Amino acid sequence: MFFSTWVSVCYDEFEMANNQQKLFDTDPAPWEVDDAGEQLVATIVLPIGPSGAYDYMVPERLRDQAKAGRRVRVPLGRTNRSVVGYCVRVETRDVGSQQLKQIRGVVDATTLLSPTMLRLTKWMAEHYLVSWGQILEAVVPTAVRTQAGTRQVIFLSVLPEVAARLDQLKLSSKQEQVIKLLADSSHPLSQPHVANSVGCTDAPIRALRKKGLLQATTRRVQHAVPEEQRITSQADLKLNADQRPALKAILQALDRQKHETVLVHGITGSGKTEVYIQAIRHVVGFGRQAIVLVPEISLTPQTQRRFRARFNHVAVLHSHMSHVERHWQWGRIARGEVEVVVGARSAVFAPTPHLGLIVLDEEHDASFKQESPPRYHARDVALHRAAMEGIPLVLGSATPSLESWHQATEGKFQLITMPRRVLDLPLPDVHVVDLRIEQADRRSRGALSRRLSQAVESALKEEGQVILLLNRRGFSTHIQCYACGTVIHCPNCDIALTHHRHGEKAVCHYCDHVDDAPLNCPECGTPGIRYSGLGTQRLEAEVRARFPTARCLRMDSDAMKKHGSHEKALARFRDGDVQILVGTQMIAKGLDFPNVTLVGVVNADTALHFPDFRAAERTFQLVTQVAGRTGRGEKGGRVLVQTYSPDHIAIRTAAQHDFETFATHELAARRTYCYPPWSTMIRLVVRADSATLAQQSATYLGQNIGAQIESHHINARLLGPSPAPLAKLRGKYRFHLLLHGSNHQELGDVVSRIKIQWKPPSGVQWIVDIDPLDML
Ligand code: ADP
Ligand code: ZN
Repeated sequence: MFFSTWVSVCYDEFEMANNQQKLFDTDPAPWEVDDAGEQLVATIVLPIGPSGAYDYMVPERLRDQAKAGRRVRVPLGRTNRSVVGYCVRVETRDVGSQQLKQIRGVVDATTLLSPTMLRLTKWMAEHYLVSWGQILEAVVPTAVRTQAGTRQVIFLSVLPEVAARLDQLKLSSKQEQVIKLLADSSHPLSQPHVANSVGCTDAPIRALRKKGLLQATTRRVQHAVPEEQRITSQADLKLNADQRPALKAILQALDRQKHETVLVHGITGSGKTEVYIQAIRHVVGFGRQAIVLVPEISLTPQTQRRFRARFNHVAVLHSHMSHVERHWQWGRIARGEVEVVVGARSAVFAPTPHLGLIVLDEEHDASFKQESPPRYHARDVALHRAAMEGIPLVLGSATPSLESWHQATEGKFQLITMPRRVLDLPLPDVHVVDLRIEQADRRSRGALSRRLSQAVESALKEEGQVILLLNRRGFSTHIQCYACGTVIHCPNCDIALTHHRHGEKAVCHYCDHVDDAPLNCPECGTPGIRYSGLGTQRLEAEVRARFPTARCLRMDSDAMKKHGSHEKALARFRDGDVQILVGTQMIAKGLDFPNVTLVGVVNADTALHFPDFRAAERTFQLVTQVAGRTGRGEKGGRVLVQTYSPDHIAIRTAAQHDFETFATHELAARRTYCYPPWSTMIRLVVRADSATLAQQSATYLGQNIGAQIESHHINARLLGPSPAPLAKLRGKYRFHLLLHGSNHQELGDVVSRIKIQWKPPSGVQWIVDIDPLDML
């Protein structure tokens, strides 16, 4: 077994094994309720069911335990069924003649949410239009709510008055041994421990308890999870001329002891992480904690080692943790035993008792937005948490989101620029390969242009490594009959099926529907069917055929299904065991391998023509990020970007490493259409089994919103309803509406009013996505 010790840490349960208290466990009769004057009142919100806040009286016996931030058991409704809710406020007040029900019990022995976390979650509830209780349930991990890895243990002691007259008692020899052991102990002992030491069964202990000679308390004890192996510690690096002012600016913000957001725009490899580390050193020196948020995909062993080598107490929160481990880490963090918490978006809720700094690296990354309820964005939550805690927030990126960039240009965020790579390594040269010309010349067949192919060859000759990015998995991206033109679609989604060669399957990338790849056209029956469009599997096959002696590896979510395979693949690449790495955006981020001398973007246009106003921004980010994977060593590096749109601003500026020009251009374009960051946006998606049903509800929503905009004179615009770009998904037909305007509160109120009045017809669901990133 992996765990060895059970420790009892602050999990004392309040339920004493004392029968007296049982008397109070039922609700008092109404005439027993003291309705005169001041009462201790607890306000409760529920994770499911009604969304309001409810007041309950705190009975005398629970006064010490009923605290804000703990869960309590309360009677609900006419039948007074017992439900668990979160206590969000406790106060003494005059309830007059109001007949409040009483709290029945307190579930948590420790406070799960600090006053700041309560405020933060309340803000989230208001901003994201989700009930407060639902937010709380999402913020406190299941592992903590279920107290994973703990168990109840009875602890025994001898009452002092009993201890004084031990020799007058008539006891069996085992009973005597038990009572002596307990009388001699300075603290209560667990029942199994006592039975073990005396060498008896539970019977003598039970007998002593029956006689009223022992006092028993139940305590929850927790399995200790061994700390990660320590790794050799490393000294901080000597900062260079760009890093020093960056650190200084963050330290000044820390010293001002109030909230401020610092945006570090540092190109890939400019040494941002080192700056974060040294700022955190300062924070830790004051006995405070820091939270570092990174995209899930960047939570590599490499990142973990970097922080573990610099700090003694690091908690890395990742999605593959067991419940037991997650609960244990939560406890360590809450007790202040952890200096630095490193994790993906949900680590923004880490219960650090004395938070000093939040760092959010790769702040533009879409994985900071949660795409399931409560659909929050960790950057916005981090900003509000930092403001409430009165501490700085540091955002870092080579390609800042236009939202953050806009804040910086408006002077709301402090901007720090790190325009050079550490040790003055040059940025890689980027060449754009115009696929239109390549195509016209018929010079190249397949995915790799002649230029890219030659570049791979010479990189291999010079013993460099190569990264080839293609942001589409599978073999062929569509399967089409050459006779009648039919494209094979997913039966559940409005999406062409992708051909996967492994097992000859036709796969839907949205719902995971799998069919055998057809041999004949299902429409006209013509034998032979064309597989076209390029996926990573086909690219891999082409690379292997062209460079048969090179060691090649494909990295995409199909090839990396097994937990740990991602790390293994990266380790093979780092060790030089793999020369050509083919992959999706999974390989675009964060990798720092000095021997990569060539990066090829096989098709930069994959994201460019998406029906999404952020398509250009995403393309710029992807090209810049993957280009940043090369030129990190002495051999330098180059980048080839293949595209059919060489004149597109996103491609042109990415090739010139020119974020500012791109941002200025794109911000101006967005201003014209009043898109974020110039406006705030809410997306509504209506789903139903039939298109008509979905459309009817979407139309109703559109009319309702239109009427409200008019009657409340709201400065807002409504787009739609229209079929969503993914008009059918997992068997549901989808319509969407986009509401944007200048005032978030006003827009939120429009949707809130609908939420109160309107119940969608049965079979129809609607989703409210605040500040949406997903436009499909
Ligand atoms: P970024 O986070 O901006 O992409 P990193 O912090 O990962 O950049 O730094 C890139 C590389 O440079 C890392 O290998 C890091 O150890 C190294 N590095 C950072 N700062 C220094 C420095 N001051 N002196 C020497 N090497 C440094
Ligand atoms: Zn599907």
